[in-house]
Amino acid sequence: MTQTHEKTDIKSMTREELRDFVKAMGQSAFRGDQIFTWLHSGVTKFDEMANVPAGLRERLKLDCEITCHEIQQVQTSKSDGTKKYLFQLADGNVIESVFMRYKFGNSICVSTQAGCRMGCRFCASTIGGLERNLTAGEILEEILAAQRDTGERIGHVVLMGTGEPFDNYDNVARFLRLVHDPKGVNLSLRNITLSTCGLLPQMRRFGEEFPQVNLAVSLHASNGRLRSQLMPVNRTYPMEELMEVCKEHIKKTGRRITFEYTLVKGVNDGKENLAQLVALLSGMNCHVNLIPMNPVSERDLRGTDRKFAEEFCEGLKKKGIQATVRRELGSDIDAACGQLRLNSQK
Ligand code: SF4
Repeated sequence: MTQTHEKTDIKSMTREELRDFVKAMGQSAFRGDQIFTWLHSGVTKFDEMANVPAGLRERLKLDCEITCHEIQQVQTSKSDGTKKYLFQLADGNVIESVFMRYKFGNSICVSTQAGCRMGCRFCASTIGGLERNLTAGEILEEILAAQRDTGERIGHVVLMGTGEPFDNYDNVARFLRLVHDPKGVNLSLRNITLSTCGLLPQMRRFGEEFPQVNLAVSLHASNGRLRSQLMPVNRTYPMEELMEVCKEHIKKTGRRITFEYTLVKGVNDGKENLAQLVALLSGMNCHVNLIPMNPVSERDLRGTDRKFAEEFCEGLKKKGIQATVRRELGSDIDAACGQLRLNSQK
């Protein structure tokens, strides 16, 4: 829990903390549960908390603030209803979230940091570096703001927007506990996927603390040398070690890992890359998610054509490795991840 603008960031509090917080104000602990449920239903003002006594609401107004994101821009796909939000935070920073409709329900891709310092070459989110970490309440508010705007419930969350979740571990862990609380959004941890570029100490810790959350690893290269070129993190945590930690994670959790592989034309999509990838992943309980790269105007890299991406995918499947080419949701609103935020800062 953090204090912003000298007021308590009440949306980042766990239910237990809220119960203690109101008890310290001389109130019954169950008021904490009530306030928690209101906050997680997406209210933006204390006065909307109808069953909370007026005196307590006044006290909360003085001491606390409810984190709310303003929609600065929204792009809606005409073909599939995908909505890409640019949210403005209280301090003026902007972040992106993407709301997607699937057969199994609605899903949202959330950001965990404003900017990112990981420096992946194919990614627009890192171009301006890291501004700051998001609080747990700010990450949660991405879901609540999208639910308010669409009037629809979100049942799945992917932490795959701007930022490296494990570079903001404590706030992300707190967010997971908040979103899983039965008196709040009440999401099953199995409906949540976290994507990391491979910060190994945090990956190990996460496997212990959140074995039910799906783990996706940004691989993006078929050998260490290439990965170091595309992803500077590989110089700190080399691919061989990453693969060892992935194997440990699968063994410990009994769950498969998804490997994200952005296909960059002429860089990592050749026959030798395919062969190396097969050798690397054979026998592992994993799934490869192939992503034809969206062009980023600030970068000189281009994505593999869809037809070649499908062929690459077939090549993996023939060798017994589960793989899919990511469905292009919202292709008519086409901006690459992080591009909307980047454009807003120009
Ligand atoms: S791909 Fe993820 S970790 Fe890499 S720079 Fe972009 S946001 Fe950061």
